[in-house]
Amino acid sequence: MGPGPINADPRVSQVLASPLIGQFDPAMTAFMTQTMELYRTVFRTANDATLVVDGTSRAGIEAAIVSLIAPGDRVLVPVFGRFGGLLAEIASRAGAEVHTIDEEWGRAFDQQRVIDEIDRVHPRLVAIVHGDTATTIAQPLDQIGPACRERGVLLYTDTTASLGGNPFEMDDWCVDAASAGLQKCLAGPSGASPVSLSDRAVAVVRTRSRVEAGIRAPGDRVDGDVIRSNYLDLGQIIDYWGPRRLNHHTEATAMLYAARECARLLVLEGMDHAVARHARHGAAMAVGLQGLGLELFGDQTHRMHNVIGAVIPDDVDGEAVRGMLLSRFGIEIGTSFGPLAGRIWRVGVMGYNAREDTVLTTLAALGAVLARLGTRHRDPAAGVSAAQDWYDAHALAD
Ligand SMILES: *Cc1c(COP(=O)(O)O)cnc(C)c1O
Repeated sequence: MGPGPINADPRVSQVLASPLIGQFDPAMTAFMTQTMELYRTVFRTANDATLVVDGTSRAGIEAAIVSLIAPGDRVLVPVFGRFGGLLAEIASRAGAEVHTIDEEWGRAFDQQRVIDEIDRVHPRLVAIVHGDTATTIAQPLDQIGPACRERGVLLYTDTTASLGGNPFEMDDWCVDAASAGLQKCLAGPSGASPVSLSDRAVAVVRTRSRVEAGIRAPGDRVDGDVIRSNYLDLGQIIDYWGPRRLNHHTEATAMLYAARECARLLVLEGMDHAVARHARHGAAMAVGLQGLGLELFGDQTHRMHNVIGAVIPDDVDGEAVRGMLLSRFGIEIGTSFGPLAGRIWRVGVMGYNAREDTVLTTLAALGAVLARLGTRHRDPAAGVSAAQDWYDAHALAD
């Protein structure tokens, strides 16, 4: 019940053990095509270039950034948590001229502030996190996207933590590139990164990916503007996933099965339903944490549905609480990073773990641990009671 990775849905774990087949087996290429179609539904996009990059979420982030920007390109990164810092670092390693603006951790940017900064800096790309697990905050993008499009600026967003559990409208919000991972709301293992690129983004990648997979002879001059990674060259990866099936890497077969199953389960459930389920159980968890007398962290109007921050009270050692939850109850919750390390716990309600039983069990266990380790008198059942009351008041129709 931490900020991810989470327990995979058993149906996803099961497909990992499916028989391995060759990468050009018609069954395999059919799976790839189906996976592209499924992720179009998950990202809410009609983008042709919707595929899976092999590697953890960071591989998708790096593929998008390194494929879209050339050395010297100006990139604007609005930073409101740990992962914004990662986007800035990756862009700067790719040789970009990186401009950052910062928002206090626990708050989202006012979109107009970002748009004003775009008008000041004139970047080629805006790279921004959609949901930052470090702070639990989701950044609205519905005005930033259209503003980027009007100005001919590309917009990339990292949806690793948010996709599947929070509204995300790739096409309606005019997002040009988005990437994700399986180990959050998608209910899978880490190790595959779904990515989608708009036609505009593909056109930019095409101007930079002139090397057809594997056919450049050793010693050939590498064009100054060529994508500075072979493995993460989205031009080559698109050609591998597309109808030409040009060999690039060897597709990670078992992870493809998992990525396909994660999307299949979400699409089967319905994206709106999945988002509502995360909202429901996230709200119950938030109410339960408050029932335990804990203060929630961050601007709750912009909180992601699937991860809740609670300020660690001063009468307990936050790490001792986490330790006892794990060793005695088998429940993992997270702390945070940087300025929030040791200041907040992060409780995840995502993917397969976004359920009533997991919420109530976690609150019952946390109440027991707080009563045992804290010096302040607390009713150990106050959290689980508050959440049960909330569920009773918000009963779903059968
Ligand atoms: C969890 C998370 C990641 C994780 O990246 P990995 O490479 O899968 O470890 C990336 N971005 C965000 C916003 C996250 O919350």
